[in-house]
Amino acid sequence: MKRVGVIGGGQLAWMMAAEAAKLELELMVQTPSLSDPAVARLAGEHFVMQGAVGNVAATAHMAASCDVVTFENEFVDLDALGKLATLGHRFYPTLKSLTPLLDKYEQRQLLREVGVPVPGFADLSAVGPGLTHCENGDAVQFPVVVKTRRNGYDGQGTFVVKSLAALEERCEKLAHQSLLVEEFVPFTKELAAIATRNVSGDLAVFPIVETQQEDQVCRRVIAPAHLSTTARDKAVAIAQTLLEKLEGVGTYGIELFLTADDRVLVNEVAPRTHNSGHFTIETCVASQFEQHLRAVADLPLAPAKMIVPAAMMVNLLGFESAEFDAPEGGYGDRLSQIRALPHTQVHWYGKLASRPGRKLAHVTLWTLDSEEIQDLENRAKQIEKIWYKF
Ligand code: ADP
Repeated sequence: MKRVGVIGGGQLAWMMAAEAAKLELELMVQTPSLSDPAVARLAGEHFVMQGAVGNVAATAHMAASCDVVTFENEFVDLDALGKLATLGHRFYPTLKSLTPLLDKYEQRQLLREVGVPVPGFADLSAVGPGLTHCENGDAVQFPVVVKTRRNGYDGQGTFVVKSLAALEERCEKLAHQSLLVEEFVPFTKELAAIATRNVSGDLAVFPIVETQQEDQVCRRVIAPAHLSTTARDKAVAIAQTLLEKLEGVGTYGIELFLTADDRVLVNEVAPRTHNSGHFTIETCVASQFEQHLRAVADLPLAPAKMIVPAAMMVNLLGFESAEFDAPEGGYGDRLSQIRALPHTQVHWYGKLASRPGRKLAHVTLWTLDSEEIQDLENRAKQIEKIWYKF
């Protein structure tokens, strides 16, 4: 039996824990609190290493009893973890492969170097708010997108800026942080590629999906995305190139923009399982979490294929600030109504508090009949109506 340690104990580790048993793997998580989601699915409290994601002493303890350590959260202290790697502890993805990904500017540089299309970009800290040209020499045209280079998630560090005055104001507000500025891409769709590469170098890419964001947070995923063959092939090729060049090991989420002329650009690479891959749990031969565990435990990958014609995933986001005093936070009625819908599975993460925009659960819905694919979007709307009560 192999034991896999996971840095992070939120919903991604919770979903990974459900798959570990199937593969006869033991899962241990490093997470600050015994009430974090993943803990409920571990074989016992001795599989929890209590500590924040950045607590390297806790990682050292966990690594000592694990065959391999992987990540639910990539915002880690790579330099400190490097000392553990030199002591012989194994990390997948490797620390070396993570290094260029944690800073959005360095990630853009790497993507450009490996020949993957990205939006025009510049390091705003270097050029300052008087920015007139991108690094490729093109004149800057508003709107632009300003991003904090590190630790951004769910659009928290991402700002669309419409004028030079607004850019100066934004720079002042974010004066203490390193910033990236990039071209605003007038995309027709946002896509995601969920791809896995194992230790032996085998690679599998799940069907490309469409992701729908509102206020920069993912609300829905459509699998597979409705796309031209050219666009689909480009998205798959990008995922393959990236994982090969990075020598990535594990499941990665690659966020993409599709433009009206069928160009596919990379927005962001997440070196971990990803919200846009949750649909795989019910609707693929093996889920993104099973694939991830297979990859890091050096097992053969499963086919990354859907077993139904089409599916959607709907995130259930918090819409109020509340501490929960019941297991389903007082949302039991809404969840029961959703659970009663056909071909629908609710995943309630078991968090103890809600705040607006926080991911509390997701719902996967699917069709067994290809004639009903159009219906999926209406079913997704029905679920959102029940959840948000609009
Ligand atoms: P995070 O890393 O916090 O998830 P992202 O960089 O992925 O933030 O941005 C969140 C959302 O903002 C994207 O899904 C997209 O809708 C929008 N966005 C980000 N970058 C651009 C861009 N260059 N052009 C247009 N929209 C963008």
